[in-house]
Amino acid sequence: MTQQQPVLALDVGGTKLAAGAVARDGTMRSFCQIETAVGEGPTAVVKRLLDLGDQALTEAHLSIDEVGAVGVGCGGPLDPATGVILGPPGLPGWDAVPLGQLVAERFGDPAYVENDATAAALGEYRWGGWGVEDLVYLTVSTGFGGGIVASGNLFRGAARQGGELGHVVVDWQGRQCGCGARGCAEAYVSGTSIARRATEAVAGSGSTLTGLPITAKAVAEHARAGDRIAREIWDETTAMLGRMVAVLINVCEPELVVLGGGVTRAGAQLLDPVREAALRQAMPPAARACDVVLSHHGDAVGVLGAAAIAYERLEDA
Ligand code: ADP
Ligand code: ZN
Repeated sequence: MTQQQPVLALDVGGTKLAAGAVARDGTMRSFCQIETAVGEGPTAVVKRLLDLGDQALTEAHLSIDEVGAVGVGCGGPLDPATGVILGPPGLPGWDAVPLGQLVAERFGDPAYVENDATAAALGEYRWGGWGVEDLVYLTVSTGFGGGIVASGNLFRGAARQGGELGHVVVDWQGRQCGCGARGCAEAYVSGTSIARRATEAVAGSGSTLTGLPITAKAVAEHARAGDRIAREIWDETTAMLGRMVAVLINVCEPELVVLGGGVTRAGAQLLDPVREAALRQAMPPAARACDVVLSHHGDAVGVLGAAAIAYERLEDA
């Protein structure tokens, strides 16, 4: 690995797979994405992920020999030391998938696997353009997760997968979460939960969502158009997220809370109520030191995060 070599970065989400070649200064030399089609199971999905990695190299006019390492972001739980995926709620059937090994074998380079939201936190720290040393990143996507950078360092914890912010309990007797617990933030704030709660609420309600395929995107659109049920679900989601961000501001006192992931494509419809609720409900000194913003990186945030992890682990190696 030389200083100049780019890395290949792979991002495994419950909805989409993404890949890109990323230079050391965070410049994306290529970016491509396809649907995860999670129902096909890990073997087929991993094969398409590896093929997408090849496509990202081709689009960047790179041969694999010109790449120093491969970074991989994936939903947790997973073991970053071995690169084994340990049954994430958003990836049914991924119950001991040796993703790091499969990636390393295919590309012949060191592969570094990390929780996708933890990775994205580091990507935002390095290349978000924010100029801060303390930030919390939250991804509102198929699932809901987060990562913490404190004094310029990624928080990992003893088992190296701490900062599981999606499974912070916001209602201890609340909805069942995919992780087995009740009332986790993910059971309310994720795109999957937005769609599920809307589906439950729509039955017999006369909502404009009736009879449509209900996704978080559709809920956002119908809420904007004034549908009462869609608006209730959306408002509950932003209130829950705002309350949770207030807790995180109190606990971590970050300079920034950065929101990313597919649901943040709703833009101000998500950010404005979350930011207002979070800064109003956090302790005043912590709130004054903090702001809540959207990532500038859109769909590429996971790929940049995986690349940041590859560079970080190479530096530590
Ligand atoms: P992944 O979880 O695979 O990384 P994304 O980050 O793209 O995928 O998140 C997918 C989620 O984003 C889905 O629940 C989808 O309905 C939701 N979504 C996509 N576009 C929008 C939008 N414009 N408004 C609200 N939600 C959206
Ligand atoms: Zn949970």
